Amino acid sequence: MFAELDRKIAEKRAAGVDVISLGVGDPDMPTPPHIVEAAQRAAADPSTHQYPSYFGMPELRAAIGDWYRVRFGVELDPETQIQPLIGSKEGIAHLPTAFVDPGDEVLVPDPGYPVYEMGTRLADGVPVATPLLAERAFLPDLEAAPVSDRTRVLWINYPSNPTAAVADLGFFEHATAFAREHDLLLAHDAAYSELTFDGYVAPSVLQAGTEGVVEFGSVSKTYNMTGWRVGWAAGSADAIEALARVKTNIDSGIFNALQHAAIAALTGPQDVVEEMRATYQKRRDLVVGTLNELGWDLEAPRGSIYVWFPTRDGMSSAAFCELLLERARVVLAPGSGYGGGGEGYARISLTVPDDRLAEAMDRIREALA
Ligand SMILES: *Cc1c(COP(=O)(O)O)cnc(C)c1O
Repeated sequence: MFAELDRKIAEKRAAGVDVISLGVGDPDMPTPPHIVEAAQRAAADPSTHQYPSYFGMPELRAAIGDWYRVRFGVELDPETQIQPLIGSKEGIAHLPTAFVDPGDEVLVPDPGYPVYEMGTRLADGVPVATPLLAERAFLPDLEAAPVSDRTRVLWINYPSNPTAAVADLGFFEHATAFAREHDLLLAHDAAYSELTFDGYVAPSVLQAGTEGVVEFGSVSKTYNMTGWRVGWAAGSADAIEALARVKTNIDSGIFNALQHAAIAALTGPQDVVEEMRATYQKRRDLVVGTLNELGWDLEAPRGSIYVWFPTRDGMSSAAFCELLLERARVVLAPGSGYGGGGEGYARISLTVPDDRLAEAMDRIREALA
């Protein structure tokens, strides 16, 4: 479906049509200068030019550990409980190689980030959907989850892509207890933990304990660094060891200059993140305000860089997104691209400049009025 959408966009753009894409979650703002400068300095130093360590620079692991202590009050051993990744997507995709035998099952959120499912399939595992429903605030009903004696991993993701839902520590405690009871690895994707609004501060799942739990983090969305490819896994030493063992057979670590940039991001001034939160919150208010004017009844999401909403008049995701492409020349991500549970929804990404987002909202207002 995404390929088909891309084809239509390319066709329109080739015909000279000004298409605004709200389909992709990739921050539009540049990486803050102090981070770029740290990378420039490090790249000019020949000591960064050879193979990096599989396990990341000790300084980066220490910086991630310090960040966890300050941000969440969680103590981690940087030696055994933190593994840098070539972007968190890399580790998310490789986790099943470490934990899933052919035919083993993995519980994945539906709708959800497609990599949980595809990583499972690449390991010949079987993804099993845990439905995220609006009436449960897009939290899974774990007691109803189809756990079998072949289930190995439970994936969760808050603030959530695509639903923009958030979870409190109580939910994380519940999920941790549930995973332990059923002998599952609990894997939490925290890519959006820092992008929250209205004063809401997201917890880490590791605040509920690290045994049997692994959390994926990233500088990508927090510091406008999606192109740099630096993330991490943190938590259970056993899980970290297993993931690291897979990685030593596949990749050779992150360019050291980029690790220096990530250290600068995590240890430098954090007001850049505060500014980003303010920018996204303003954009969120514009989008939610526009949709509510048009008859929706949405609550403003408290996290992520997305607005997730039901289509109009029970239209399919594809039909609704096609309608807006044709009538408004605006691209949304069809909810059905995130799993069957996303059918009947669409996702707007807040990662376009303010004036383009305002123009897109004007066009949607006109198209749907
Ligand atoms: C963007 C995103 C990631 C990937 O982040 P990288 O660290 O850039 O690989 C992971 N999970 C979710 C849910 C995302 O939306």
